Amino acid sequence: MNELFVRPGAPPAWEDVIAEAMACTRCRLADGRTNVVFGVGDRRADLLFVGEGPGRDEDLQGEPFVGAAGRLLTQLIEGVGLRRDDVYIANVVKCRPPGNRDPKPDEIEACSPYLAAQIAHIAPRVLVTLGNFATRLLLDTREGITRVRGRQYPFGDALLIPTFHPAAVLRGRGEALAQMRADFVRVKRVLQDADR
Ligand code: URA
Repeated sequence: MNELFVRPGAPPAWEDVIAEAMACTRCRLADGRTNVVFGVGDRRADLLFVGEGPGRDEDLQGEPFVGAAGRLLTQLIEGVGLRRDDVYIANVVKCRPPGNRDPKPDEIEACSPYLAAQIAHIAPRVLVTLGNFATRLLLDTREGITRVRGRQYPFGDALLIPTFHPAAVLRGRGEALAQMRADFVRVKRVLQDADR
């Protein structure tokens, strides 16, 4: 668990965080972006997804997870009876790494205060990290997603459930998709238990 995200202190006002992100030049990713992809969804959601960073479609549209991986994410959300509009979806980095390369450590560090502010404001009951970058950052681990998924981890007052990145599942075989579906069933169950 990364203390930076669990107890970030009182964040600035939501609108100020967005305004700062929209004008951000904290790292080199600002140079190549079309749009800052801050996040989308319900600011009061119980469930927060954290991906890696915008791809080409997201950069063009200014919204996370709108390409092929996004369609799979939406299907998985709807598959457990939830709606995309009722969750919040964010990324580790808010600007597209050129050519869809991995975000670099200094870019992740520069962008982390935005994610910390999002987590503090939304105060979700469940965080789902999609793939290695979000999982390693929020759990503060070097372990890969294959080793840590299938379990839930305390995250302040919330629970963190790591799962595969939908883009990796699209590239892989059916087994990962079945495991990801099982992770979403776990998410739904934890949310239902929290409601009692
Ligand atoms: N992959 C991500 O990690 N985030 C997006 O927004 C889209 C694809």
